[in-house]
Amino acid sequence: MINGMIDLRSDTVTLPTEEMRQAMFEAVVGDDVYGDDATINELEQLAAEKFGKEAGLFVPSGVMSNQLALFTHVQRGEEVILPDNCHIVAHEAGSAAIIAGAQLRSVQNAAGEMPLDIVEKYIRKDPEDIHQPKTALITYENADSDGQVRSVEYMKKVWELAKKYGLPVHVDGARIFNAAAYLGVDVKEMAQYCDSMSVCLSKGLCAPVGSVLVGSREFIALARRKRKILGGGMRQAGILAAAGIVALTKMTERLKEDHENAAYMTERLTEVPGIEVYKERQQISMVFFRLAGFPLDSDGLVKYMLDNGVRINGEDNGIMRYVTHRYVSREEIDKVVELMKKA
Ligand SMILES: *Cc1c(COP(=O)(O)O)cnc(C)c1O
Repeated sequence: MINGMIDLRSDTVTLPTEEMRQAMFEAVVGDDVYGDDATINELEQLAAEKFGKEAGLFVPSGVMSNQLALFTHVQRGEEVILPDNCHIVAHEAGSAAIIAGAQLRSVQNAAGEMPLDIVEKYIRKDPEDIHQPKTALITYENADSDGQVRSVEYMKKVWELAKKYGLPVHVDGARIFNAAAYLGVDVKEMAQYCDSMSVCLSKGLCAPVGSVLVGSREFIALARRKRKILGGGMRQAGILAAAGIVALTKMTERLKEDHENAAYMTERLTEVPGIEVYKERQQISMVFFRLAGFPLDSDGLVKYMLDNGVRINGEDNGIMRYVTHRYVSREEIDKVVELMKKA
């Protein structure tokens, strides 16, 4: 339950835990623009260590983290190769054009994976040709916004291809801990195949605010300057970082519960007449289905569920998505299934 409702819209709706609230209350803080906030410094160092990188940077949101990565890796007019349905292309309000001034060269992808032969084809090969833009970065998500996980082998292949052409790789790891839990690997194993990674503290990990960007010392120093340009230099923000530390130390292991609950929900939803459940798409905390002869349309279902104490999003491209998280229990999943059967 979240504020009296069952909320399946996203893992972004999660609230800070009691332990987070206590840590926030007690946090030692200072002016982070002067580098004086001990709690921020601790979070940034902790993140760097967890991902096997030299440095970390605390930022207010995942969008800012991705955009800082672009702003730092890419010069105006240079190209970024990325999947055409990724967050940077589809959900960041066109900010790559505004902030980094990047040209996005998007790759069509069926199940979220950019085919590597196309990526290689898209890399600009002739820096002497004054007509050609320069390729500056390859980026992709793990897990992606469709809840699909890229394998470590795929990450390695992208990395090897990028390095063949001397290019950096940024991974949008908003849900990297979900991906790691699904694959049963340490996040370090994944992060070794990128130059920078963005990690969300505020989704399944339940922190109220923030992401961390990790990378080399040099990269993070540049990104810190760019964060100031974006107005992202915060003062006594250790009050937020304190929750982030709890997120990174206490909340990553329990994500597999959310995945198990999503598997349970997937299974139970197959009992509901008039919907088609995409069983094979359930990897992390996301469940996908389609209305196929259901008595209500998408808007009707959203309203019916809301009237019965359940928040859901309507269909996106014809597909419904329910997301599990720390505040969704098995009993609540049962209730949701019963409600849908009753409809
Ligand atoms: C949530 C998310 C982000 C960050 O979005 P915010 O709204 O800034 O938190 C970035 N990339 C992916 C893949 C995401 O799911």
